[in-house]
Amino acid sequence: MLLSPLAVGPLTLRNRLVMGSMHTGLEDRSRHLPELTAYFVERARGGAAMLVTGGYAPNVEGWLLPAGSMMSSRRMADRHRALTDAVHAEGAHILLQVLHAGRYGYQPFVRSSSSSKSPISPFPARALSARGVDKTIGHWVRAARLARRAGYDGIEIMGSEGYLINQFLAARTNHRTDAWGGTASKRMRLPEEIVRRIRAEVGPDFLLQYRISLLDLVEDGQTWDETVELAQRLEAAGVDVFNTGIGWHEARIPTIVTSVPRAAFAGLTGRLKSVVDVPVIASNRINTPDVAEQILADGQADLVSMARPLLADPAFIAKVSEGRADEINICIACNQACLDHTFANKRASCLVNPRAGRETELQLTVVPARRRVAVVGAGPAGLACAEAAAARGLAVEVFEAEGEIGGQFRYAMRVPGKEEFAASLAYFSRRLDVLGVPVHLGHRAEAADLVRFDHVVVATGVRPRVLDLPGAGHPMVMTYPQLLTGERTPGRRVAVIGAGGIGVDVSEFLLAGGPGIAIDGREPHGHSTDVEAWNRRWGVADPASVRAGLGTAVVDEPAHEVHLLQRKTSRIGRGLGKTTGWVHRAELDAGGVRGYTGVTYERVDDDGLHILDSGGRPQVVRVDSIVVCAGQESVRDLADELLGSPGGAGAQGGAGVGPRVHVIGGADVAAELDAKRAIRQGVELAARL
Ligand code: FAD
Ligand code: NAP
Ligand code: SF4
Repeated sequence: MLLSPLAVGPLTLRNRLVMGSMHTGLEDRSRHLPELTAYFVERARGGAAMLVTGGYAPNVEGWLLPAGSMMSSRRMADRHRALTDAVHAEGAHILLQVLHAGRYGYQPFVRSSSSSKSPISPFPARALSARGVDKTIGHWVRAARLARRAGYDGIEIMGSEGYLINQFLAARTNHRTDAWGGTASKRMRLPEEIVRRIRAEVGPDFLLQYRISLLDLVEDGQTWDETVELAQRLEAAGVDVFNTGIGWHEARIPTIVTSVPRAAFAGLTGRLKSVVDVPVIASNRINTPDVAEQILADGQADLVSMARPLLADPAFIAKVSEGRADEINICIACNQACLDHTFANKRASCLVNPRAGRETELQLTVVPARRRVAVVGAGPAGLACAEAAAARGLAVEVFEAEGEIGGQFRYAMRVPGKEEFAASLAYFSRRLDVLGVPVHLGHRAEAADLVRFDHVVVATGVRPRVLDLPGAGHPMVMTYPQLLTGERTPGRRVAVIGAGGIGVDVSEFLLAGGPGIAIDGREPHGHSTDVEAWNRRWGVADPASVRAGLGTAVVDEPAHEVHLLQRKTSRIGRGLGKTTGWVHRAELDAGGVRGYTGVTYERVDDDGLHILDSGGRPQVVRVDSIVVCAGQESVRDLADELLGSPGGAGAQGGAGVGPRVHVIGGADVAAELDAKRAIRQGVELAARL
């Protein structure tokens, strides 16, 4: 069904995949339109039926950011022509998303239904006057008219995630007593009028897609009955198709991070579908063709929206239609290079595909001469480099000391809620196979193995830092690989030394009592696919019985008593991702993890871990086991040998009689290393080889 066409309003879509809206950071300045065009063209060429742009404000008050993206003049519209023409030339349709941020605007002109301040912006919003509401609707109509002038096939009206329209719809934020508030019915008038007046302006041959919030997940959000009434009124007013959204941005329940089960909310889309006559689109955590197909086959939706998965792999649909679905680069829902960048005001990209958003600058051109490349180490850095270099036509061989590829990712994928990392390794494995790259497993490469190559890429990664502490060799002390692989079993009370990303992951692993998950390639197993268990854990209720779906969370008894320690005095988990860190901190709190900051480690003995607390007082953390997550050090032996040898030319990438040596990923620098940097370095090097 994913590949079958569908008539939607005035359009016929070539398949069922819609690329959901994402703000890339390229929308805000017209000088970036060529890059934005290249980004969309690649996704259109890759087969998506319809693309939705990032949000464009209808007026200044609706800006997300100061001088943010906006569609308010003919000049702006005319600049988009080249973009829409280029997308159409690839056979796809494209919609402009119109988004009024309301009180989520990170700028001083914010307006909302009533005076209020959102928890996610420092700028308090002033209430729109009745005249202001009318003018705002006029600006939505203007944006739609201009979108048509710009060549867009329609617009998406952003009515979810807590932006202005939701701020009118919900009693949480709408305290008006005039024609635009006071009752649920009057609160619905804003989107209804927006749709009615746009339809009157643009006529029937322009697609109106409305993104509706199915589950607000905030107090005093909408009930299911209100959502149904809204949908039916909007359909009558002229909506052609409903896209769906889950959760306001200020909700304290995760909706798209990697620990949210795939397709967790598709059931609600199915319920919407049963009460409207126009097509509906499912969204959130749909990242493989199988998941999409299942949603369509179950009749839960007519179309599926994928946003981040098309950052990860622009050719998603092309690969499905060519029978190469197992070559799709899967979005692991980490948010590290997309949403975390957006919220830090940086251009969005993708951890597993660093070309995303940089299509014009990071190009993998095919080379005629088959230069020989050895990649030593099959962690994320080496895998990404080998795949990209082989795709360019280079003759690549991979050497991996262990019996499996993956490096540190093999540990990451055993953390509950991180099972998607296995899909990434399955992708690399398949791609290297298809590209005919020999992968020498269980082969610790030495300098002598590498003399026959033109280039040697040293991607030997990192090893866990060993504690330098009296008693560090005590039997209760273990490394995180020993714990995560099941080589060592911890006692009931466990101290985790080091509260970085890995220390936090290890704590969650301990709370859950182990992986509990059989990992066999692409498909994650266990609780991460159990939507009911996940709903219970986060208190997601049926919105038909509990307003906005905000129920009571029921947290399982933790499997271990966890003590998490760091020497820094900053808050535990401070360095975690902007859009994901709060989820991890919530898990630690729910599991009763005891955090210690500003500590000095003294020694380990049979009593446990002896520390000085932040006030310099001696304390014993009485535990049965200690897991060391104290960062990592580069594995540099091979790099140093090659770079120091006469044939290695003495310098990275330097010319000499032997192979040119390049060092990437953790082998290059262990500090601040993550897979985003490892993969980016790998692909950037592959583009230069
Ligand atoms: P490595 O992953 O260390 O790979 C190096 C490889 O080289 C290994 O397979 C090793 O066996 C091999 N090797 C070494 N010497 C030789 C030799 N002489 N010959 C052949 N092979 C050799 N990062 C994120 O960005 N996001 C996350 O959410 C995240 N979560 C994590 C969770 C956990 C529990 C862990 C442990 C790590 C996590 N990371 C995460 C970090 C991420 O996995 C690393 O940053 C990344 O793996 C580093 O990649 P690399 O290729 O440089 O090195
Ligand atoms: P990290 O984030 O740098 O944390 C290392 C921890 O070890 C710190 O808490 C540090 O805290 C402590 N430490 C450092 N040297 C020590 C020493 N000599 N003795 C005792 N403690 C010491 O690194 P990591 O946790 O090992 O993670 C590695 C990389 O993987 C990180 O860069 C991270 O970005 C990535 N990762 C990301 C995620 C994610 O969700 N995005 C998850 C896991 C891993 P003090 O110095 O304060 O004690
Ligand atoms: Fe998906 Fe992570 Fe890439 Fe974002 S950065 S698109 S979440 S894989």
